[in-house]
This record gives sequence, structure tokens and C-alpha cells, in this order.
Amino acid sequence: MPCLQEEPAVIESYYNKRIVGCPGGEGEDEHDVVWFGLEKDKPHECPVCSQYFVLRAIGDRGDPDGHDDDEDEHH
Ligand SMILES: [Zn+2]
Repeated sequence: MPCLQEEPAVIESYYNKRIVGCPGGEGEDEHDVVWFGLEKDKPHECPVCSQYFVLRAIGDRGDPDGHDDDEDEHH
């Protein structure tokens, strides 16, 4: 394997963060699924297979559990 970093896996989400499971690659790169919280603008590297994940927010819904910040906007 060349030591060049692979392209990060882009995970789309309506929210600014979500839980992502990494099953590794195929064949011998496969590993038990590792779950981690992925946040927007915070790339996460799988500790097992070194695959990078980045979250792309495709909505503007903010944090899925965010009830603590401004919620005053009603239309
Ligand atoms: Zn992995």
C-alpha cells in the first residue's frame, strides 16, 4: 500500500453531526464496525483503518440534539 492518504469518505447529513460506522474496506481491509460521532468541519480518522471521514451538511437544521441555542425563529 502506498502511504498516500486516501480520499476522505464524504458523509452527507441534514444535521451538523451524525453517527457514522466504519466497516473498513473490502477483503482484508474489512474490520469490525467502529462507530463514532462525526461533526461538520471536523474530519475523523478511523482508528482501525485510517480512513478519513468528513461530514457535508446538506441542510441547515443544526445540531440534532441542539435545543440549547437560538430557537426563536418561527415562520
Ligand atoms: Zn475503519
